[in-house]
Formats: sequence, structure tokens, C-alpha cells
Amino acid sequence: MSSQLEATSLKDTNALPKVVRARGSYLWDAAGKQYIDGSGGPAVYCLGHANAEVNRAICDQLAQIAHGYRYNFSTDALEELTEIIRARCGGTLREMVFVTGGSEAVESCLKIALQYQTAIGQKSRRKFISRQRSWHGNTLGALGLSGFAERTAAYEGAFIPSVKISPANAYRPIAGATADTVGAACAAELEAAILREGPETVAGFVFEPVVGAAGGCVPAPEGYAKAVREICSRYGVLMISDEVMSGAGRCGTWRALAHDGVEPDIMSVAKGLAAGYQPLGAAICTTGVWQAIRVADGAFGTGHTFTGHTAACAAGVAVQKIVAREGLVEKVAANGPRLKSWLAEAFAGVEAIGDIRGRGHFIALELVADRVSKQPFNKDRKLFMKIRAQAMENGLICYPVGGNVDGVSGDIVILAPPYNCTDDELTEIVDKTGQSVRQVLRAEGL
Ligand code: PLP
Repeated sequence: MSSQLEATSLKDTNALPKVVRARGSYLWDAAGKQYIDGSGGPAVYCLGHANAEVNRAICDQLAQIAHGYRYNFSTDALEELTEIIRARCGGTLREMVFVTGGSEAVESCLKIALQYQTAIGQKSRRKFISRQRSWHGNTLGALGLSGFAERTAAYEGAFIPSVKISPANAYRPIAGATADTVGAACAAELEAAILREGPETVAGFVFEPVVGAAGGCVPAPEGYAKAVREICSRYGVLMISDEVMSGAGRCGTWRALAHDGVEPDIMSVAKGLAAGYQPLGAAICTTGVWQAIRVADGAFGTGHTFTGHTAACAAGVAVQKIVAREGLVEKVAANGPRLKSWLAEAFAGVEAIGDIRGRGHFIALELVADRVSKQPFNKDRKLFMKIRAQAMENGLICYPVGGNVDGVSGDIVILAPPYNCTDDELTEIVDKTGQSVRQVLRAEGL
């Protein structure tokens, strides 16, 4: 997220090239320079750009009606997308509300959790537990749960009450744990936090099953999600899976947590849902959670002007139909190990590459000054920003993650290519990543 923070400062956006055209995995700027989209922007464009079928579906919807206000009408697009998501989620995750992006989706998850706890007579449960080195969004509720000091510091004191526990990262296990035991140790930390705070005060536990923008494609270690599920159920704490970045197929299963064989109580999804063709996100919950709210209050107490926006839902339907018809989630799952091994080859002998990790089309490199101690490079070097700049120079879009988030992570580069990339395109992304990182390391004398 540091990269987004910096890229959205006026100083930086003034210097950015102007994009004027895009097709599939490629974009062109006003000067005619070509870029390959190695990260799908910020892990969004899962079908690449200018997909004719999606564009046509949106235009057809606009010709019919752009926005059938959700509290006056239902629409085919909304109903069809609801059924698609039900089928993709499986199990009891069948109820949902459509919003305009990831932060709104997370915000809705938090509100569903609080309304549910009130509905079942647990109104003292107002607090959330979340994790350090996480990113849940820019709205105050989501921001307050994010473990990202650089982004949250200015707003401390204005957030929903929460406590943060350690993230479960096999590359950087917490003290006393190893890569093999960190999942159990971090799950135990969750239980200890619930007991310390008092279970009767905790509404939910919010986490990213594969950490994105604040950690760089860190999958939950084996067994972690199952242990978390068990602990949350034991103490009446709702398990909330933030899949804004990792969901909608990006990690090789439609729900990221499906990989772990776990169903959360509530989850968010956004970026890949409509693949950037329209702004769209969703908060999804189990029939049990929804039913308790319905019985107590009649309905979930939300209602944005653009809730269930029709053209956005039409884009979501078109994207999800293509993803299913072309078997793209399965393709992404199969490509994950190939991408990692190609990157390992591309970086053979490069001492600064500490870790190559992730799943599906959600793979990151972490750079370290010392492979044994895993000491990050000095944050003032801003290697991640230099790599982004060099990659742009070389015609590659990648997603760099801020060095030293909360003093721990190293400089990280995320690759999140479109699901329908060809092998030649994936090879180009890997080659240009290798070239860009090596150029920066050479220029820095590393
Ligand atoms: N949650 C996660 C896991 C994210 O990665 C992001 C954005 O990167 C968000 C929430 C916020 O989404 P948005 O930027 O669409 O508001």
C-alpha cells in the first residue's frame, strides 16, 4: 500500500504516463510505449483489458437501464450475479450485499457482524480482532483494523475498538515458532487475545487468508485457518475473511479460504469480481447470520445509493461467466507452481531474493539484505519504488509493496497477471521482472 500511497500523492501522479489504450495483457501510453500488465493493476484485471464480451454486456445493460435503484427494484443482473456467487461459494454462504469496492465490502462485513451480535442478544460484542501487517481498506472501520502504521497513524483514536495479533507468516515466524509451527502458534495467539479481552466483548476476527498489499502474497500456513475456525466457533466470535484481493479466483480457488477447507461466517470480495470493468464488491454471509438479522430487524441495515448497481452487476455476471466457461480458476491454480519455478530460475544466484511465495496468479518476491537473518534492506533505499520505476521503464507493470511495513517486511514485488495470460505473456512478465530487479540491485551496488 505504500506504493499506492505514494502514487496517489499529487507529486507522483503528475509524473505518471497517460494511458490511452489497452488490449488483453497490454497497455499503451500517449507516447506509444507498450506495457505488459504483470500485476493486473492492483490485482484487479483478471481478464485483461478491453474484453469485447464484457464491454458488450455493460453496453447492453446501459441501453436497458444503468442503475435500477436497489430499494425500488430488483434487476436480472443483480439476481443472476447473486446466483453465480452462491454457486461459486457453495455451502451456506448464500446471502450478500453488492457495493462499489473493497473498503465498502469490508465495512459491510463489520456492520453485518455487529448487527448479528446485537440480533442474538450479544450487544456487548463491539470489538474486533485483526492482524498486524494487514490491509483492509481506506474507510475508517476497515482502516482501523488494518495493521499498517504508515496509513493508520494519523487517524488513531477515531477507530472501532480493536486489538491486533501477529500474522501467520511461514517466512517470518513469530518468536519461538518455526515455519511448521507458526500457524498453530498464531492461532493460539488469537485464542489468548479473545480470552484476555473477554469473549463477551469480541464481535469478530478479521483476516486476509492470503495477505495482499501489506505483506505480499502470504498464504495462511497449513492448518491455521481450520484452527481459527474452531476457536472462533468456540467463543462465538464471527470469522471474517477479507478476500478483496485474494478472492474471485485469484489464488486458484474461487474463495481463497476454500483452499483451506474452511467456511467463514462473513467474507468480502471485490477486485476480481468485475475485473475492473465496473467498480464492484460484495459482502457475503452465511444463511445463519442473515437469518438471525432478518428475524430481529427484518433486514441488514445498509443502503448506499449505488448498492447493487445494475451496470456493475452486469459486468460481474459477464466476467464470472467467462471465468467459468474458460476454466480460468483452474488454469490459475495450475499456473501458480509454474510461475514460482520460473521466477526461481530467473533469480538463480541473486542473493537479495529471500522468498518467492503465493498461490495461483498471486505471487510475490521478497528482497532481503541477508538471507540467513532475513534482515530487510534499509527502508530509506526505497528499493520497492525503484523496482517499480525500473519496471515501468522496461514496459512492465508490477505492484511493489512498501519496504519495512511496521519495521518487519522487506521490499516486496507482487505479480498478479490476468487469469487469461498466455504462456508467452507470463514468460515476458517473469523475464522483465528478473531484468528490472537485477538492474536496480546493480545500480544500488547490491
Ligand atoms: N481489503 C483488502 C484485502 C485489500 O487488498 C484492499 C485493497 O487493496 C481493500 C480491502 C480495500 O479495497 P478498495 O481499495 O477497493 O477499497
